[in-house]
Amino acid sequence: MSDLSHPSPASPAKDDPARFSVENFERPVLDTPNGTDRILLHSCCAPCAAEVMDALAASKIETTIFFYNPNIHPRDEYEIRKQENIRYAEKLGMEFIDWDYNAKDWFDRTQGMEMEPERGIRCTACFDMRFEVTADYAAEHGYDLISSTLGISRWKNMDQINGCGERAAARHPGMTYWTFNWRKQGGSQRMIEISKREEFYQQEYCGCVYSLRDTNVWRESSGREKVVRKIKFYGREALVGDEEEG
Ligand code: SF4
Repeated sequence: MSDLSHPSPASPAKDDPARFSVENFERPVLDTPNGTDRILLHSCCAPCAAEVMDALAASKIETTIFFYNPNIHPRDEYEIRKQENIRYAEKLGMEFIDWDYNAKDWFDRTQGMEMEPERGIRCTACFDMRFEVTADYAAEHGYDLISSTLGISRWKNMDQINGCGERAAARHPGMTYWTFNWRKQGGSQRMIEISKREEFYQQEYCGCVYSLRDTNVWRESSGREKVVRKIKFYGREALVGDEEEG
């Protein structure tokens, strides 16, 4: 007779994080909010996108990645984040739209907000810009459902992101922004696991020149080294505390 007081290794207990691991998690079939099986997914980077991409693929939702992030500074940082995302889209066989790097427009849009803190009004303007262009592209190409990978990052305010997404979708009749919480049911855990498995580039600031500045100010005030870009990859070295940034 088996000992029922001890779960078998193959079936982790309900509160065991192993249940949510990439290996063990049984992905539910997701229902889209408007019943469509096609989505234009705004993506900010591979680490944030991969878990969302996997979830959509498992639900057989036809997904096109829309990479539009003119906030990322400088250009070589933008390129490395984009190439990592292309790499994973190719692995899953997902279409990847490489949109404009109109950085000057981003600086114009956020002018006067240079000293705003992260999650403040500059970030609202930044999300608005990226989602408006995503929604416009979606409308022109027959999508009526959009979402973003930005919300999976624990560094972000999900209400702020959802508000921006819904506002952008409302510019087009019949368009929906999917406010699904990608962090839940172990999404945040799998995001890190997949990033390590794929050895994604590990960015250490949100993206804009101001977030790089503020990360360095914070690091210096806590006696730490400044950000050194383009050298860290998940899984290639031990992660130190809370350094990953999406
Ligand atoms: S901190 Fe991030 S979200 Fe905020 S403005 Fe900069 S790049 Fe955009």
